[in-house]
Amino acid sequence: MNPTQQKILDLTALLNRYGYEYYTLDAPTVPDAEYDRLYRELEALEAAHPEFKQPDSPTLRVGGAPLDGFESVHHEVPMLSLSNAFSPQDDSGAFDHAEMYAFDERVRGGLGGTAPEYVIEPKFDGLAVSLLYRDGVLVRAATRGDGATGEDVTENVKTIRNVPLKLHRPSESALPELIEIRGEVLMLKADFAALNRRQLEHNQKPFANPRNAAAGSLRQLDSKITAQRKLHFFAYSIAQQTGGSACGTHMQELAYAAELGFSLPEGNYGCFQNIDGVLAFYEQMHAKRPDLPFEIDGMVVKVDSLAQQETLGFVSRAPRWAIAHKFPAEEALTVVEAIDVQIGRTGAVTPVARLHPVFVGGVTVTNATLHNQDEVARKDVRVGDTVVVRRAGDVIPEVVRVVLERRPMQILEHSSSDGLQEDLFGAADSAERPSENRTVPLYPPYRLPETCPICASPIEREEGEAVARCSGGMLCEAQRAQGLIHFASRKAMDIEGLGQKQIEQLVAQDLVRHFADLYRLDIPTLQKMKENAEMPSDASTMLSTSTSAALSAGISTTLSAGTSDGQNKKMPTKWAQNILDGIEASKQPDLARFLFALGIRHVGERTAKVLAQAFGSLENVRRAPEPALACLPDIGAVVARSIAHFFAQDAQQAMIDELLAAGVSPKNQAVTLPLAQYLTPEKWLSRLPGFKISENKAAALWDLAGKNIEGLINDNALPADWQAWRKISGNLSLLTAMQQFLAQMPSESDTMSSDGLNAAVAGKTFVLTGTLPTLKRDEAQAMIEAVGGKVSGSVSKKTDYVVAGEAAGSKLEKAQTLGVAVLDEQALLDLLNK
Ligand code: NAD
Repeated sequence: MNPTQQKILDLTALLNRYGYEYYTLDAPTVPDAEYDRLYRELEALEAAHPEFKQPDSPTLRVGGAPLDGFESVHHEVPMLSLSNAFSPQDDSGAFDHAEMYAFDERVRGGLGGTAPEYVIEPKFDGLAVSLLYRDGVLVRAATRGDGATGEDVTENVKTIRNVPLKLHRPSESALPELIEIRGEVLMLKADFAALNRRQLEHNQKPFANPRNAAAGSLRQLDSKITAQRKLHFFAYSIAQQTGGSACGTHMQELAYAAELGFSLPEGNYGCFQNIDGVLAFYEQMHAKRPDLPFEIDGMVVKVDSLAQQETLGFVSRAPRWAIAHKFPAEEALTVVEAIDVQIGRTGAVTPVARLHPVFVGGVTVTNATLHNQDEVARKDVRVGDTVVVRRAGDVIPEVVRVVLERRPMQILEHSSSDGLQEDLFGAADSAERPSENRTVPLYPPYRLPETCPICASPIEREEGEAVARCSGGMLCEAQRAQGLIHFASRKAMDIEGLGQKQIEQLVAQDLVRHFADLYRLDIPTLQKMKENAEMPSDASTMLSTSTSAALSAGISTTLSAGTSDGQNKKMPTKWAQNILDGIEASKQPDLARFLFALGIRHVGERTAKVLAQAFGSLENVRRAPEPALACLPDIGAVVARSIAHFFAQDAQQAMIDELLAAGVSPKNQAVTLPLAQYLTPEKWLSRLPGFKISENKAAALWDLAGKNIEGLINDNALPADWQAWRKISGNLSLLTAMQQFLAQMPSESDTMSSDGLNAAVAGKTFVLTGTLPTLKRDEAQAMIEAVGGKVSGSVSKKTDYVVAGEAAGSKLEKAQTLGVAVLDEQALLDLLNK
């Protein structure tokens, strides 16, 4: 067969299959842009070789066959399609409207040189519906079907709230005896998102896009389902009419439809005297597209005068007087070349598909987010896959779905190594495992790496969380700036003068890597940071290299404003000195602040305080084993594990040592939590990782072991599950660590006396209200807590003192009513100094 003929046959068959999936099943497998591309290719081939054109060519037909199960409706006035025009964009985003100018020329030619007025309106991405009203009552609603025969969807359309079941009576004229309104049924973007969320919650397949959701919802045999889906109707033409007001233009038809009670896309259509006005409006709507509440895939341009429309007439499947002026595609097909992970500023791990470059949504896309492991698994995106990529507006491009039929496969010879492949390629393949050779995907399902590609720390994912995280914290370059900003923040080390901007610059210029580096900063380094930040980017890269070279060579640079003239113009350095003063002043933080500043995952201010109150010193906190941590109030298993993991990393411990070496010395504080009550054997035994046991059973185990850890470690007569747990790697050393920790457990009385716990304050509850003359509220709170007091947010009978400043309100009143002692700032200071 002639290759062109073969190509035409192939394209016809392929497009007919895509058409069936799209129109009849409401489940397209390729993006519209791919369909349009192949359609145009076929159109061009058919134009050059009309002798090979197939009788079932999609270029001759409208839509798809009606679904069995619906009554058929014959359209007295055929429901046609529209010809398309595209306006490709260049890299700067400018449109090439050549095809639209050609349309304008054809129209003017058809009208014998007369220039028409054009209406431009949204091309709704839904499905066309015809609504027939007799004497103002909706009697029939039908889909387009193949243009001649559609499906009767009257009952379903009646559930759409903005379709009038009875027409509104126009102010000036009688209702038409018969009128057929045409328009589009669609689903608003917000309703579509909600529907897909529900689909996923019920483990059902999400819809590919709002058009398919609308079509699938309307073409339901059970109208109760349609009623549950929120659909919307916009009118865009009158196909036939008897009686009522006669319209001479398309604009008049729209206005009349509105009078009869139909919705129009207000503010989003217009009438223009020439094609340039139309094109300017198209560009405005393109910019507005992401903000519209419904999806549109372009604009429809129509000749306004109905008389002119009649003169122009139709070609096979579309009117000559209208054109669908499509927007650049938001979805396109491309191939996944690799899947990498990106580490975010907070350690969040995002899998990213590296794509063969593809032009979509007005830009060339080379990466698309895959969100998280669950999403990758749900979509089953693998290397080598052909995928649908979507980029709508400024939204980050994403992989919508895989075109499974294009997945690269390999033939696997049946051999004894099959078992291995089964594991590798997932249960689905092994389920249908034939005895002879079989075809399996070339690439296995994707799994997130176990370690961070930047810092090699373990990647962890907590139960119930979609996002996995790099556990490296400050060890991970990606998280450094964020970690330092947190470290210096007001509630952490409270380094005055050192803000987010400076930290970002210091990190970007590689002048600071770890917390301790802050304490080694000096004026020349800060000065360089500022100069580099003010330079244009290439110069600043060069400078930053030479600066770090100078710094690492220990050269103390002389400060000069110019770099080439060699003259030492002195620059003011007060700002830099302020930062250094702020850093210096932060060197003796409260223990709780210091612990909070380290940025241990799940350790907020409150948890940091509990740790400080329980253990009193940094030394105790950093060697506390996980079960001991898990016994503390407000610290659950997840938080305890996170703290223990943090301190189990040598690099984190080294980072703390460096901080201490750089002169930071967190203040020890009084142990105010009755540790002995919290750290009982049954409590910590019932919190051992991987050993689920109630406190009662733990108490029995403790008795069996002879009430000592030695017994727990060595006794071979203990229950089998305990012995099995003990054998798991790391568990014996955990017991030994517990033993050592408990032996040196900080005792309340020790720390109290050595740290001079204030008996008047320890264990007492304070409430702070109003503005104190000199102390900030968190300073006052810190001072109270440092000597063993508690600070609460509300006044009750249990409150011991209310400290009231200026403009104290209801809390002070309540204290007075309850007879709680009220202190001013001076009285508080006196009490604290007792
Ligand atoms: P069309 O959607 O391009 O244009 C005609 C339709 O536009 C009308 O039937 C009507 O429903 C709609 N329309 C929206 N707003 C309108 C307005 N203001 N005035 C008039 N009509 C308006 O044509 P079609 O034949 O329904 O479908 C062809 C398109 O469908 C293709 O260009 C392709 O994008 C898509 N398609 C995709 C696949 C796939 O597999 N992805 C398969 C088949 C078709």
